[in-house]
Amino acid sequence: MNLILLGAPGAGKGTQAEVICAAKGIPAISTGNILREAVKNGTESGLKAKKYMDAGELVPDEVVIGILKDRISEPDCKDGFILDGFPRTVPQAEALESMGVRIDRVVEIYVPDEKIAKRLGGRRVCEACGNSYHVDYKPTKVEGVCDACGGRVVTRKDDEPATVLERLRVYHEKTAPLKDFYEARGKLKTVVGQEAVEDTTRLMLAALE
Ligand code: ADP
Ligand code: ZN
Repeated sequence: MNLILLGAPGAGKGTQAEVICAAKGIPAISTGNILREAVKNGTESGLKAKKYMDAGELVPDEVVIGILKDRISEPDCKDGFILDGFPRTVPQAEALESMGVRIDRVVEIYVPDEKIAKRLGGRRVCEACGNSYHVDYKPTKVEGVCDACGGRVVTRKDDEPATVLERLRVYHEKTAPLKDFYEARGKLKTVVGQEAVEDTTRLMLAALE
C-alpha cells in the first residue's frame, strides 16, 4: 500500500506515519528527516537545502524529487511506503505520477492554524536520531534527553515563531492545492487532528480501511 500523509507543519504527520509504519509494516519516509540528515552530513543536497529550510521555505522541487526517487527505489519500499511531507507542491505530485508510482490513499490530517502555532512552539527534536517530542503532549522521560537514543533534544530552528508563520503561509499557498489534486483523483480522506495522539490514530487507521 502506498500512502501519502498531507497536512500543515505540526499537524502530526510524522507521529502518525510511525504508527502506520508499525501497524502495516511499511516504511515511513519523511523528506524533512532525510533533508535534515543531509544538512547534518554536509552532502551536496544538504548544502542546497539548508538556507530554504532555515527560512521556512520549500526546498526546490528538483532537489526533493531526486531524493524521494532514490529513497523509494530502495528494497524496503517494494511492498509499499508512507510518504510524510512529500509531495508538497503540485509539480512534486505530478513527478510521482510520471514516475509511475500508484498512490492508494491520501490522508489529510486537518488542524486549524491557531492550534499549529502552539504545537510547533512546544515541539522538540532529538539532534541525534530525529525523534520528535512535545513539551506538553509527548514529553521525554528525562528533560532534554531522547528516550530512544539518549541524544540531546532541542528546538528546531524552523520552529521559531516567525518561521512558523512563514511555513504556514507556504503550506496554504503551495501544499493545500494538493487536496484538490487528490480529491479529483478520488484518493483524498480527511481526518481531524485530535488533542490526544491515540484519538487521531484511531481515525487515521479507520480512514485506511
Ligand atoms: P514539517 O514539520 O513542516 O512538516 P518537515 O520536517 O516535513 O517539516 O520538513 C522540514 C523542511 O524541509 C520544510 O520546511 C522544507 O524546507 C523542507 N522539505 C521537506 N519536505 C519537502 C518537500 N517535499 N518539498 C520541499 N521542501 C521540503
Ligand atoms: Zn534520539
